[in-house]
Amino acid sequence: MKFTSHFSRVNMIASGIVFLFFSIVNPNLNAQVKKKNAADTALFFDSHFHLTNYVQEGISIQKFLSIMGTTTGRSTLFGIPLQQQWSYSNTGDFAPTYYLASDAPLYYYSFTDAYIAMTYRSLSANDQKRFDPMITGFNPADMYAADHIKRVLLLFPGVFSGIGEFSIHKEFVSSKVAGEVASLTNPALDRILDFCAESGLLSILHNDIDMPFPKSGQYPYLIKQLVELFRRHKNTKIIWAHCGLGRIVHPVEDQISFLNKFLADSTLSHVCFDISWSEVAKYIVRTPETIKATATLINKYPDRFLFGTDEVAPPDAEKYQAVYRSYQPLFAQLSAEAKYKLLKGNYARLFDAARVSVRAWEKAHQNDSTVTVPVSTTSSGTGDQD
Ligand SMILES: [Zn+2]
Repeated sequence: MKFTSHFSRVNMIASGIVFLFFSIVNPNLNAQVKKKNAADTALFFDSHFHLTNYVQEGISIQKFLSIMGTTTGRSTLFGIPLQQQWSYSNTGDFAPTYYLASDAPLYYYSFTDAYIAMTYRSLSANDQKRFDPMITGFNPADMYAADHIKRVLLLFPGVFSGIGEFSIHKEFVSSKVAGEVASLTNPALDRILDFCAESGLLSILHNDIDMPFPKSGQYPYLIKQLVELFRRHKNTKIIWAHCGLGRIVHPVEDQISFLNKFLADSTLSHVCFDISWSEVAKYIVRTPETIKATATLINKYPDRFLFGTDEVAPPDAEKYQAVYRSYQPLFAQLSAEAKYKLLKGNYARLFDAARVSVRAWEKAHQNDSTVTVPVSTTSSGTGDQD
């Protein structure tokens, strides 16, 4: 056969010529590769983006698409799970839009998941491919949280790639949330991360590495609890947001050596880090030494870091790209491989894998009921009461 002889000959020569051969034989493939390369001209993929703010207001997805332009190839898509209550007795006619603007509590706003799902579904199939929507509207201190996440997948199949950003310990926020305070040792969180392992949902977790303003020598109990949590969930893919840093929560003493140990630990190889947030960028590019130390770390572990903006409903491209611009001194010291993986490669690898797993879970469970029949227990009475 003519094709067979061509094929066996091509098999023996360099891959570039193989590509050329198939391009000629298959013009569609040529177009596909061209298209893929065109998509790759983007500067970055955004692993951490909030479409809406603490009062569930934000920009439209069409506006965000215009801000992304050709600069941002792909992006995660989530709101904020917490709603700042406008308490008239607390702030009167002043309507707070940020958690620091009022003493009134925050509460979990589960409708955000329906909002994000419907927003995603309003997009064309081509535009949808650029987004990875995330489930956030659950209370991580609630043993029922995993059931909420499951219900969202069953109600909106084909949409979500992961959960988060959700917070356990976050400066000034955790203590403001109404109800039981979240904890890394709560079995409710284990149920959530177990379900992520089962379904393939990627998990973006915000947990400060330390408490604000620790006294010198104060025991960093959060690190211990967090590492134990990660080790209990070896089969869950986790992105630790902001490398654990915050506005006030500064790098723990010798953060780089902590991260070095963490990254070398094979029991923690399922945990990646995002360097999102302008506050994190400030720490990293503060001095030539911090830039060099961070670049060395990322060059050594290029598969473990993701770029993200952590922008919340940005008004324009200028504001949206500020974090990317501020990282230029860091990017300049990365190897070509590490830079590509940080900005795009790791995003594509992790989120593409999550999409495949979650779609498979949804297919396998498509006939599951989203309404569970209440089971009578000693604590829930007969189960059919109003
Ligand atoms: Zn965030």
